[in-house]
Amino acid sequence: MSSEPILDNAEGAETISTDDPSVVPGRYWRPLPDGRLQCEVCPRFCKLHEGQRGLCFVRARTQDRIVLTTYGRSSGFCIDPIEKKPLAHFLPGTPVLSFGTAGCNLTCKFCQNWDISKSRETDTLAHAAGPETLAHAAGPETLARAAKALGCRSVAFTYNDPTIFLEYAVDVALACKQQGIKSVMVSAGYITPDARAELYRYADAANIDLKAFSEEFYRKVCGAHLQDVLDTLEYLVKTTRCWTEITTLLIPGENDSSAEIEAMSQWIADKLGPSVPLHFSAFHPDYKMLDHPPTPKETLLRARDIALKNGLRYVYVGNVHDEAADSTYCHGCSERIIGRDWYALTAWNLTHDGRCQSCNTRCAGVFDGPPGSWGRKRQPVDMRRFAKGV
Ligand code: SF4
Repeated sequence: MSSEPILDNAEGAETISTDDPSVVPGRYWRPLPDGRLQCEVCPRFCKLHEGQRGLCFVRARTQDRIVLTTYGRSSGFCIDPIEKKPLAHFLPGTPVLSFGTAGCNLTCKFCQNWDISKSRETDTLAHAAGPETLAHAAGPETLARAAKALGCRSVAFTYNDPTIFLEYAVDVALACKQQGIKSVMVSAGYITPDARAELYRYADAANIDLKAFSEEFYRKVCGAHLQDVLDTLEYLVKTTRCWTEITTLLIPGENDSSAEIEAMSQWIADKLGPSVPLHFSAFHPDYKMLDHPPTPKETLLRARDIALKNGLRYVYVGNVHDEAADSTYCHGCSERIIGRDWYALTAWNLTHDGRCQSCNTRCAGVFDGPPGSWGRKRQPVDMRRFAKGV
């Protein structure tokens, strides 16, 4: 476990006011015999004295309880293609309203999103989510209304991990469900069983980061544990209806050996089955890992070959341009059934319920009617337009 300290603001300038509408009672914590309060949202189990924040920064102890301090506060709203999450088998081609807050419960040295995940200032985050995103407060009903009015089929909790803003994420997912909008969780999957059951109760799809297949990597590089993430994957695939895909960022010399990819893909095939899509994504030097080179495309293609050889049916490469390795092939007849160029669809050979038009084999995933035509655009959203309805 990482030795990064709990963030102690007892002597700091900030006092957490429970009058602030973004401060709400947190769930999943308990008092310890020594007087501290233990947060039990994630397996880090931060033990807090009065005035302290957990490692994620957004959960804190004030007035003898643990609170979430970022309810309704976002780092920005943008409409993305669903392929960007990445989800290749969930309502392909459709737009998804994407947002996040601030903070993170992992300490990945290679974080590709560190200006958001390590931020302590949600309201100044618009530039961090991307120069074109717009940060405004938004309650669950406003968000769901905006998604519907903008023609989005789903809402994604994506710029940081919804685990740490669970109470907000669950309320948004429920409000979306009532409007017929689906919810997508993009997460590292580092969460305790009780919190997990609540967070994913209304989730329709998830992309879980499997950061490596070694406990040593998780412990040294991410300050977390592999087994908790594997437990989340098994929970999602075996016991829920939440459509699940996996992403692994391959870092040269750290988690890209053929032996590790063999073990990972064998575990996925064995425990989760051959139909869970796996995305191998390219690293670029960032945050505290500037001394590693970008991932060569050949590494991603080698990893893809290994995973396919081990029986996985849907394996993709990300952050590089390769239309062949980014397309979906029928496992019945090998026909290309979905073509992709970056995030845009270039071919579609499926029926409206997801069967191969050549051999009628069902493609795993969530398909509902013809594919969307959003393309690869990214469109910022000013949430103030939707605050009182449109
Ligand atoms: S969510 Fe995790 S990191 Fe945040 S306070 Fe709770 S135990 Fe700590």
